[in-house]
Amino acid sequence: TALRAASTWANVPQGITEAFKADSFEKKINLGVGAYRDDQGKPYVLPTVRKAEEKVVSSRMNKEYAGITGVPEFTKAAAVLAYGEGSSALDRLAITQSISGTGALRIGGAFLARFYPGDKKIYIPTPSWANHAAVFKDSGLQVEKYAYYNKDTIGLDFEGMLSDIKGAPNGSIFLFHACAHNPTGVDPTPEQWKEIEAAMRAKGHFAFFDMAYQGFASGDIHKDAFAVRHFVEKGHNICLAQSFAKNMGLYGERVGAFSMVCENAEEKKRVDSQIKILVRPMYSNPPIHGARIAAEILNNPELYDQWLVEVKEMADRIITMRALLKENLEKLGSKHDWSHITSQIGMFAYTGLTPEQMDVLAKEHSVYATKDGRISVAGITSENVSRLAEAIFKVKG
Ligand code: PMP
Repeated sequence: TALRAASTWANVPQGITEAFKADSFEKKINLGVGAYRDDQGKPYVLPTVRKAEEKVVSSRMNKEYAGITGVPEFTKAAAVLAYGEGSSALDRLAITQSISGTGALRIGGAFLARFYPGDKKIYIPTPSWANHAAVFKDSGLQVEKYAYYNKDTIGLDFEGMLSDIKGAPNGSIFLFHACAHNPTGVDPTPEQWKEIEAAMRAKGHFAFFDMAYQGFASGDIHKDAFAVRHFVEKGHNICLAQSFAKNMGLYGERVGAFSMVCENAEEKKRVDSQIKILVRPMYSNPPIHGARIAAEILNNPELYDQWLVEVKEMADRIITMRALLKENLEKLGSKHDWSHITSQIGMFAYTGLTPEQMDVLAKEHSVYATKDGRISVAGITSENVSRLAEAIFKVKG
């Protein structure tokens, strides 16, 4: 049944973009996209990415293969970004560049399927990013679910989550979204993370973090890495999937990293070597261009500072759109409590609308999003937010 539940979430219809394109209404709104849009609704290339790319191109580097684990200047800097300067993890960290976050999850899944002692099971939240179940299943793991979202409160089912952590066999693998949970936008608070960590430690569980939105959630790269760093501080040897798709807008460049905190430098060597043995038959070695761009941004202090500002601007635009949507709904006289719209975080918001209501939104108001009621806040602009609020108000009241 867990697998059936998992596949239900994976079955989100893929036809939104097609339906959106086919709609001739001028003021149609697409809230199904999984990428950031600027306030004009356009795809956005970060100015720091443009600058870094110009530097990369003008330095006229050769196009030789990277090593199996990628561009070292990139992975070193990615590790510091995630774990924090001076983290105890850095000297015993096995890390490899990956085909963005998805590839990192896949390497991690395959590594655990091959080497994790005991049950080859991974527990993922209900719901989770639609691709998680498929990635882990194809990696050779059995996918199980843990409680996460409470549809009555449109918030975290914290009790259910803790009880599933405590109920799982000792030494189980748990997948956590480090921040900006996709699709719900519902994250544990730092206090709740502390309790989750304690429960995980008491059970000897293993934590796999998926961090696809560092900086993109709160606008602060340190705040968004809280859970990852807290677990490491408390002695967990976690593994981590990082993506630079969102926080650098490098979507199609496929820049990411997979890392595993090891017991010591000696274990790190062995894990490094096994990661190479895993990656080599999958794709030999990763692409270099995007990693060079990311490395330039992370290692050049001036670009790095500017990038922090740009990440925060993206996060802030999303936070502002959440506030505007809520404000507009309230102005229209909606009697529902819309506080979840602003308490949720990241690119996606769970509206609490039913599949039927989402259907009406699309058919009668030309507002397109997934049937589970998830909207991409990145698709909201200062221009379309009032029409969006009116449409939601007409459908839900
Ligand atoms: N994990 C989560 C939770 C995501 O939302 C995404 C992107 N939608 C990814 C991983 C992976 O994305 P990518 O492979 O583009 O880095």
